[in-house]
Amino acid sequence: MARPDKRLYFLLIALAARTRADCLGRRVGAVIVRDDRVLSTGYNGTPFGMPNCSEGGCHRCLHRGEEAPYLRGGAYDVCLCVHAEQNAILTAARFGQQTLGAGLTSTTQPCFGCLKEMLQAGISEVRYLHPWDPQEAYGDPALAAQYAALRSRFSVFEQVGDPAADTPGLFAPFLS
Ligand SMILES: [Zn+2]
Ligand SMILES: [Zn+2]
Repeated sequence: MARPDKRLYFLLIALAARTRADCLGRRVGAVIVRDDRVLSTGYNGTPFGMPNCSEGGCHRCLHRGEEAPYLRGGAYDVCLCVHAEQNAILTAARFGQQTLGAGLTSTTQPCFGCLKEMLQAGISEVRYLHPWDPQEAYGDPALAAQYAALRSRFSVFEQVGDPAADTPGLFAPFLS
């Protein structure tokens, strides 16, 4: 019997959370843990009571293609969707769970915005399944350097699990 270690166990929980994601962009799940206990989970999508992203609820996600290139790969300030990591932090806040000294595991390497919010929420350990290259994503060495400075503030910032595997069997019906 294969038994996952703690890092993989929390990744599996983040992957389970991801099945609930509703966003036309990349679907992401996250979990916040402290002292090896789950404090909260999150997945990306529009806020409570707002139309879902997949129903056209987010103007930015719906039009980030050819017609409005300025909305692509950024413009998060006008994106209605709350990121998985943000939702995990905000759910902890909503129910009064302390995030100071906690760890966060996400199915995707956190974006610039989520990273700064995690830092400010006192999260000290960050783990993720799917990596991406800030230099490639931002195309600006200064921004990549700023991302690197942010990530250096965490005691742990590491990739976990096998991105190629990504639970193909268990969650297949929910992952398109
Ligand atoms: Zn969206
Ligand atoms: Zn984010």
